[in-house]
Amino acid sequence: MSETAPEISIILPVYNEEGSLPELNKRLTAAMEAHGDSYEVVVVDDGSRDGSYALLKEIREQDKRWRIARLSRNFGQSAAIYAGFSLSRGQYVIMIDADLQMYPEDIPLLITKLREGYDMVSGWRVDRRDSLFRWGMSRLLNRYTEYVTGFPLHDHGCSLKGFRRPMIERMVAFTHRCRYLPVDAATLGGKVAEVPVRHQSRRHGQSKYGLFKLVATAFDMITTITIMPLQVISALGVFFSFIGFGM
Ligand code: UDP
Ligand code: MG
Repeated sequence: MSETAPEISIILPVYNEEGSLPELNKRLTAAMEAHGDSYEVVVVDDGSRDGSYALLKEIREQDKRWRIARLSRNFGQSAAIYAGFSLSRGQYVIMIDADLQMYPEDIPLLITKLREGYDMVSGWRVDRRDSLFRWGMSRLLNRYTEYVTGFPLHDHGCSLKGFRRPMIERMVAFTHRCRYLPVDAATLGGKVAEVPVRHQSRRHGQSKYGLFKLVATAFDMITTITIMPLQVISALGVFFSFIGFGM
């Protein structure tokens, strides 16, 4: 492997994605070679139990721009992304899902925007191809976040995002670990933009977010960006204890 740091790092969290990896390798390589900047792909295998890791090792044999890390068990997407951030070396860092719901061909849009001087660029899935339930829940969470932070963004949860190196350093040093990164970037003083990107429904395998994991992620989002929910719950507790005493 060349010791000189590449210009671009692409972070890929992988959890049981053997069906998507061959097509992803082909499309990502074609898109990045057409783009022209030097790049590395930092894959974090988040404890896959299917053939993903064997496939990744094969890809690495063919293409040394791919670097593979493997977590000891399944830690979740946010942990995998942050592991990728820590291992990345590029001046511009792009994160994208491995399941091809986001288009690797859209990565250059983010790089162009970052080069305009933004610290972080978030994709906006204008025509989102997920279930009505997922779409509705995200919409509610996006509006909630906008309300409590005063930070307007259409699509906090989009998993195609780009960062400049100094922003990555600050985010890795920051102890908050949540999948909703734009709020953190803005909190850390970053200049954040969004660009419309394409989205398609999953073609191989299934979403790794069952109802329980979705609710846990939403709860994480609601309770970690502000202490307002805690204050509301405390106030309700005091209110009901007074009623209790009264009765
Ligand atoms: N992922 C992961 N660990 C997990 C769950 C998901 O690394 O515990 C990866 C997954 O392989 C994919 C990305 O995170 O590359 C997004 O997952 P998924 O497509 O299931 O999420 P959705 O698109 O349904 O939000
Ligand atoms: Mg997906």
